[in-house]
Amino acid sequence: MSVQLVWFKRDLRLHDHTPLTRAARTGPVVGLFVFEPSIVRAADYDAQHLVFVRECLTELRTRLRRRGGELLVRVGECPDVLEQVCHELRATAIWAHEETGNARTYARDRRVRAWARTTGIPLHEVPQGGVVRRLASRDGWAEHWESVVRAPVANPPSRFAPLPWTDAPDTAPASGEVPTADALRVQCAAGRAHDTPGGERAARALLRTFLYERGEQYRREMSSPVSAFRACSRISPHLAFGTLSGRQAWQAAQQRLSEVSGPLDRDERWRASITSFVARLAWREHFMQKLESEPAIEHRNFSSVYDDLRPAVADPERLEAWLHGRTGYPLVDACMRALRAQGWLNFRMRAMLVSFASYHLWLPWQQTAVALAPHFLDYEPGIHYSQFQMQSGTTGINSIRIYNPYKQALEHDPAGHFVRAWVPELRAVPTDFLHAPHDMPPLVASMAGVRIGRDYPLPIVEHTAAYREAKARIFAARETAAARADAARVYRQHGSRKDPLHRRR
Ligand SMILES: Cc1cc2nc3c(=O)[nH]c(=O)nc-3n(C[C@H](O)[C@H](O)[C@H](O)COP(=O)(O)OP(=O)(O)OC[C@H]3O[C@@H](n4cnc5c(N)ncnc54)[C@H](O)[C@@H]3O)c2cc1C
Repeated sequence: MSVQLVWFKRDLRLHDHTPLTRAARTGPVVGLFVFEPSIVRAADYDAQHLVFVRECLTELRTRLRRRGGELLVRVGECPDVLEQVCHELRATAIWAHEETGNARTYARDRRVRAWARTTGIPLHEVPQGGVVRRLASRDGWAEHWESVVRAPVANPPSRFAPLPWTDAPDTAPASGEVPTADALRVQCAAGRAHDTPGGERAARALLRTFLYERGEQYRREMSSPVSAFRACSRISPHLAFGTLSGRQAWQAAQQRLSEVSGPLDRDERWRASITSFVARLAWREHFMQKLESEPAIEHRNFSSVYDDLRPAVADPERLEAWLHGRTGYPLVDACMRALRAQGWLNFRMRAMLVSFASYHLWLPWQQTAVALAPHFLDYEPGIHYSQFQMQSGTTGINSIRIYNPYKQALEHDPAGHFVRAWVPELRAVPTDFLHAPHDMPPLVASMAGVRIGRDYPLPIVEHTAAYREAKARIFAARETAAARADAARVYRQHGSRKDPLHRRR
């Protein structure tokens, strides 16, 4: 039996991996992971992603070897590496998941398909979840998604067919070290130390503590940055790199739901939380489907009506202040600093950060989205670009939501714990002034040991004026006949047919 090559990309797991299971039915299995310089050195990739991937690959290799398989790790561009490895192994087929990635991986996948056609090596590509390639219509998509997550999980056999070189190990291809960030020359934002270990085992443990220990107050606590770091599932990096599939998460949540069907208040809280979590798992692929169906939304507005709304090039001072947490808005700055240090932020605070950049600072989302991507460990292009556009008002189909950073601070960090943790220069400021420290009387400021304008910036823009101007501009663009007609087109192609909540978030 000839070797079956399984090309791993953002699906770094052994379980619920259909291409792997099918390959193992056909012959001995060798996995391949390729660090492609054109992808890992791009602006949206960061050393934190590499650290996470390295951990995932180490575990994956051990698991494959235990079953009699192997994992090769190579550096180079595809399809060149695929060609070389197929030649070395005399592999007769390549198995892979379809990927909904960024413009680079999309172009790479097209090159790989063209290469496979010309060489005649069968390339078996399998959907990774509910996202559909060449989707003709959004009608019925939600039902399709549900049938996918309900389908049984595909697990590989405990033993693969023996590799042809097991009797003569000298002929085995070198499996390759997992390269370091320095070796790959991958950029690294200074000081980051994310606390999310990679690998399938870690993914399952995280999901389990969420479903059985941490998640009871999820629904109530997900929006505040004070509680969200613990109350949210935090599985997003695992979903993004595929150490956990959406189906595995959905089925584990259903299992938990069946266990909390009792009449107690606690059961009710758990039910409410897990139901909210399950809805979000569906949103994930709902958003990814948008990018799959229209890859151009990584760079272009969903609705061209908004094309000239913001400048093409961001004001550099505003962009820098926003990106480094120096806007003079304590909650905005705390969120940015926390994200840069930890690689994660909860949904509402991400939305507020982007809303502030797109409305108060009037920056083009195309630039802020790329600038923020490397800071999210869970960077998932399909969600990322759709959400940036949603929070910037350029989809045409979602309600306009301009977050008031003062109101968000009073609602979600009333005692100032989060701001004090991430904006230490304001630590001694009394809570009454913490979220608007420029309003502090000079005597109070001097007692707190801080001078606003020197130790911490004055607000970069005045909230009420910036808010009013942004609102007037976005509604002027939105309330034209052309905008309404184009919104109908966008809705036909991308709108959720099932859950009206989508249109609000
Ligand atoms: C501007 C912006 C950019 C974002 N970029 C990303 C990104 O690159 N990658 C990413 O995974 N999420 C992104 N999100 C969505 C959301 O903020 C994260 O999925 C969530 O905070 C991840 O934490 P969690 O795993 O604890 O989520 P939980 O609340 O526990 O939810 C479970 C899972 O559901 C999915 N999910 C949750 N909320 C959303 C949502 N609003 N839209 C789509 N899927 C959702 C995620 O896969 C998440 O892991 C973005 C949101 C905004 C506003």
